[in-house]
Amino acid sequence: SDDLTRAESQITRHPDYPEPGVVFRDITPLLADGTSLRAVTDAMYRPFAGGFDIVAGVEARGFLLAGTIASLAGTGVLPIRKAGKLPDPAASIEYTLEYGSARIEAPGVLFPGARVLVVDDILATGGTLAASQQLVRELGGELVGTTVILELDGLGGRETVGDHVHSVFTAAL
Ligand code: IMP
Repeated sequence: SDDLTRAESQITRHPDYPEPGVVFRDITPLLADGTSLRAVTDAMYRPFAGGFDIVAGVEARGFLLAGTIASLAGTGVLPIRKAGKLPDPAASIEYTLEYGSARIEAPGVLFPGARVLVVDDILATGGTLAASQQLVRELGGELVGTTVILELDGLGGRETVGDHVHSVFTAAL
């Protein structure tokens, strides 16, 4: 649609940020435009509509998308947090990054077998989303899919994350 075409043009490219050789994609202009935010979040959840009970979003930009999609779908949200922010995490996963490692945690709010849609802004190597999927399984949820605004091609992210990955836009590295 025209709205999606315009939304895609609002993802800006920033060469050599945060370090030389990296091209950073900034989605904040897209998020700031109500028509674009509506079009993109609608396209993110449409393939999974009616098939999930809760939306999990990865801190911090994933929170914005999870909240918006949950509101469209009439479900709740599951915040996937960076380590150390929850008083009583029910699951915790450490995963490796390009440099070093990170830990994510989630609260024990899922009912057994809850169908979970995992969302984030960008799929790069897939490490963050694969860890999120693992976390959802440890919480006793059933993963129904993963959906992102932008998939960066050529980093193996889709293979790492596995089945049922949906991206609204794809970009070459
Ligand atoms: P991955 O774990 O390598 O797939 O990286 C995905 C995570 O890093 C996501 O949570 C993204 O928000 C973030 N990320 C990766 N590349 C970019 C980028 O170009 N712009 C903004 N965030 C990015």
